[in-house]
Amino acid sequence: MPEDCIFCQIIAGDAKGYIVDEDEYTMTFMDAFPVVPGHTLIVTKNHYDNILDADAEAIAAVGRRSTSIAKAIKSALQPEGLGVFQLNGAAAGQTVFHYHMHLIPRNDGEQLEIHSRIPGAPEDLAAMAARIKEAIEP
Ligand code: 5GP
Ligand code: ZN
Repeated sequence: MPEDCIFCQIIAGDAKGYIVDEDEYTMTFMDAFPVVPGHTLIVTKNHYDNILDADAEAIAAVGRRSTSIAKAIKSALQPEGLGVFQLNGAAAGQTVFHYHMHLIPRNDGEQLEIHSRIPGAPEDLAAMAARIKEAIEP
């Protein structure tokens, strides 16, 4: 695990993450700089820089988990739509080089954005993580 990878640190419990869900291959937590409330990331537990070096099974595991997380976001937050984004390489806009998928609640009239520089308030991130976690169907 690269020591300077913030997602590896969250997975290892060495950095604070507002965790929504965890299974054998994936971890889901709140984006610390949400573009809208409920901006969620699903990451592989193993470190891969991006889709080009990732194991196909790990990517499949993120995809499988995304259906449950998407439904939980819909159920908890009732957005009109849900953006699913996955960026590979700096030229594509990737900023954290550990494979992950964004799930971003969307509503009519909002500007289409993937990144924000404004950190979420810890209490808001914690509350959002709890709401989405609670809405995951077993
Ligand atoms: P990318 O641009 O690589 O697709 O997305 C990386 C995401 O990670 C960005 O949306 C950014 O806000 C988020 N991020 C950056 N640093 C942290 C952090 O320390 N914790 C969490 N939970 N998210 C982070
Ligand atoms: Zn990593």
